[in-house]
Amino acid sequence: MTSVAPPPARASADAAMLRDGFGRRIDYLRISVTDRCDLRCRYCMAEAMSFLPRRELLSLEELAELADAFIARGVRKIRLTGGEPLARRGLPDLAHDIGRHLKTGALDELTLTTNATRLAEQADALARAGIRRINVSLDSRDPALFRHITRTGDVAQVLHGIAAAKAAGLAIKINMVALKGLNEGEIPAMVEWCGAQGFDFTLIETMPLGVVEEDRTDRYLPLDGVRRALEERFTLLPETHRTGGPARYVRVAETGGRLGFITPLTHNFCEGCNRMRVTVQGRLYMCLGHEDHVDLKQALREGGRAALDAAIDEALAHKPQRHHFQIAGRNAAPAVDRHMNVTGG
Ligand code: SAM
Ligand code: SF4
Repeated sequence: MTSVAPPPARASADAAMLRDGFGRRIDYLRISVTDRCDLRCRYCMAEAMSFLPRRELLSLEELAELADAFIARGVRKIRLTGGEPLARRGLPDLAHDIGRHLKTGALDELTLTTNATRLAEQADALARAGIRRINVSLDSRDPALFRHITRTGDVAQVLHGIAAAKAAGLAIKINMVALKGLNEGEIPAMVEWCGAQGFDFTLIETMPLGVVEEDRTDRYLPLDGVRRALEERFTLLPETHRTGGPARYVRVAETGGRLGFITPLTHNFCEGCNRMRVTVQGRLYMCLGHEDHVDLKQALREGGRAALDAAIDEALAHKPQRHHFQIAGRNAAPAVDRHMNVTGG
């Protein structure tokens, strides 16, 4: 009888890695821990939203179990998002649970995207969980404009949260969705403020996700024009830094700060996509701009790890090559009906 030698450990680890049908290595998972939020940003949500019934939500333990399964398949970076992740009770416990993989080296980074309204109370616990870097959405520092964009928000509370996160030692990147006729005039001041605070700053083009009250053509601001305008005022130096996300960076010579551009409309970046997203319902979406998804909840609850692995492989095989976002023409339907709060950013 001939005995068959087991494959070398490295080869079997590689076989478990997530690679899609276009050869892209997928090692970045975003977990939306809730679809709820205390704000109602006009480009993200409609004023009257209905949220998922609580019985449909995965528990924090189930979300941690999902994270374990993805890490075992080679995911190296996890971002917690929402909705507003800090509105989910027990979020620091979830972060702590997932954070144990940072200590073993199985995970490179655990991060969070937040609106910062509840950051002041939770910043220390997040830092203790192993989070080192967070993204904070801040579309304006002007109280009235911030209130208008978010419909309900108090910018002082957000700035307080940001200050607490800085004091807790978290590196901060400010995200601002560039909105024509709303915050476009504030962009240079935000570049300067972020530079002075030691924060990275990223501008984002608004994406046509879900029906909102405003026509997106009224608010869409292509970032190539914004960049040209900034170049008249600042010296933007080439920068090779990448965070594993879709932003492309420059360095602002005058402030020393890093400035990123996320351009889903004007410069498609799907070629290098390394991401997938799981919702709090347990749906695995392989692209923000497509409705296709695989249900992980059933696999998680009834089939165990093998069923989960099979479901992940199925999703991977169907990851689309790219999204096809465009904001062209009044009253155009969104690319997908799903609002951004379901899958998170
Ligand atoms: N509530 C948290 C926050 O606002 O940071 C996390 C979730 S929010 C959906 C994540 C990011 O998506 C935020 O930076 C937000 O500005 C951005 N976003 C929401 N809707 C968007 C849209 N339609 N187009 C582009 N960015 C959007
Ligand atoms: Fe809430 Fe974030 Fe959406 Fe604003 S962008 S409504 S803070 S989920």
